[in-house]
Amino acid sequence: MDSQQFRSAAHQMTDYIIDYLDNIRNRRVTPELPPGYLRPLLPSQAPEKPDKWGDILKDVENLIMPGVTHWHHPNFHAYYPSGNTYPSILGDMLCDAIGCIGFTWMASPACTELEVIMMDWLGQLLGLPESFLARSNGPGGGVIQGTASESVLVSLLAARTRSLRHHKENFPCKDPFPVKSLVAYCSDQAHISVERAGMMGAVTVRKLTTDENLSLRGATLCQAIEEDIANGLVPFFVVGTIGATPACSTDNIRELGEVCNENGLWLHIDAAYAGAAFVCEEYRDLMDGVELADSFNFNPHKWLLVSFDCSAMWVKDAADVINAFNLDPIYLKYEREGQQPDYRHWQIPLGRRFRSLKLWFVMRLYGSEGLQAHIRKQVSLAHEFESYVKEDLRFEIVAPVTLGLVCFRIKGDEELTKSLLKKLNDEGVVHLVPGAFRNIYYLRLAVCSRFTESEDIKKSWNEIKKQTDSVLSEKK
Ligand code: PLP
Repeated sequence: MDSQQFRSAAHQMTDYIIDYLDNIRNRRVTPELPPGYLRPLLPSQAPEKPDKWGDILKDVENLIMPGVTHWHHPNFHAYYPSGNTYPSILGDMLCDAIGCIGFTWMASPACTELEVIMMDWLGQLLGLPESFLARSNGPGGGVIQGTASESVLVSLLAARTRSLRHHKENFPCKDPFPVKSLVAYCSDQAHISVERAGMMGAVTVRKLTTDENLSLRGATLCQAIEEDIANGLVPFFVVGTIGATPACSTDNIRELGEVCNENGLWLHIDAAYAGAAFVCEEYRDLMDGVELADSFNFNPHKWLLVSFDCSAMWVKDAADVINAFNLDPIYLKYEREGQQPDYRHWQIPLGRRFRSLKLWFVMRLYGSEGLQAHIRKQVSLAHEFESYVKEDLRFEIVAPVTLGLVCFRIKGDEELTKSLLKKLNDEGVVHLVPGAFRNIYYLRLAVCSRFTESEDIKKSWNEIKKQTDSVLSEKK
């Protein structure tokens, strides 16, 4: 493909994308195809002679789209949102075109410098403490990771190194303790990425019981720490969640922070979904105590209109992360090192994309007002759905509606709710996933798509009512 052919193909692709998103409502939310549907439809090997672009585009529509789950469909309510906007798509296009791999400042100065500034802009939009921002000229700063899972792993590994170093400094004559005696903590609502980070870091992760609001409290953490110390273990790391996956519950960050600070544990905050809400001041109570944390992470690629991948992570002392991962081969050295971050030290991979472009485009083209309006609208749509559920006595809400998530079930035997979910997902008019806590099985309705309007919420509710009628009539 030469540049003229690219110009024409890119115009076609732009039209295709616009038509796809403008008409996404007309598609089923989920595909109706069996596993393995694609192999018989594609040639068994790559073509010898180049194909034509027009043929490829036809295959996209005829072969790929029928197998796509449309995450931006207004009636897609599964998991949590995934960002998608035109400014973000433009940012990714430019990122691919520049195609730099900005592992050091020298490898592409603008890639690093825009990221440093965007992480400051974003941190200010969220109302994060200055100690996390590079502009404070302190040791803190932000970095864009690929996912929240990477952020928790990076912080766990940094905390592990810090803990081993402190032990060596404080007890120079003693043998270093084995890594396997390190213990990390999170709540029973925390995302599986915390346990996985523990597996990868070869440390134990204890999931602690939450209170009646599904919130991990300081006293519970304190007790666990005391028990583990008494057993000769070394507590070192805690993940506090804001907006947990099952029911959007939040740990008591201030209490956890106080316990961590008293005991020298690293506190990482996982606000993967909920963090975006802090662009609105009225939701910031959820992060009360954030100044006590060592690291904070949220995914603009979830609820802040930026497309995957863009996971924003801030650390209070970047040296902790850099010390955990620093190796200096000669081919990565350059003059004037040390004046700007070399982000290769802040992450697991070496290579990195120019992801700050899409963040910059989104923040500039929406402005803080546009971002706030998006969050407030989605929260109000969740409450609209909640009001429908509450009016129908066959249902109950199982957890307080927080931000854009509603957790509900059919009263009575859980089999009813399970049958409802099956019928809903078989029909493909809406898409939901289940949740469970304390033996309560329920459905999660998350307001996900930026295209979702009040009419769509009514449509989702009508579909749920229709399928509930069918479930209940079958039961009789
Ligand atoms: N933490 C929470 C609270 C989440 O809800 C999720 C995903 O939904 C994650 C972490 C993992 O996010 P990622 O896919 O960016 O690793």
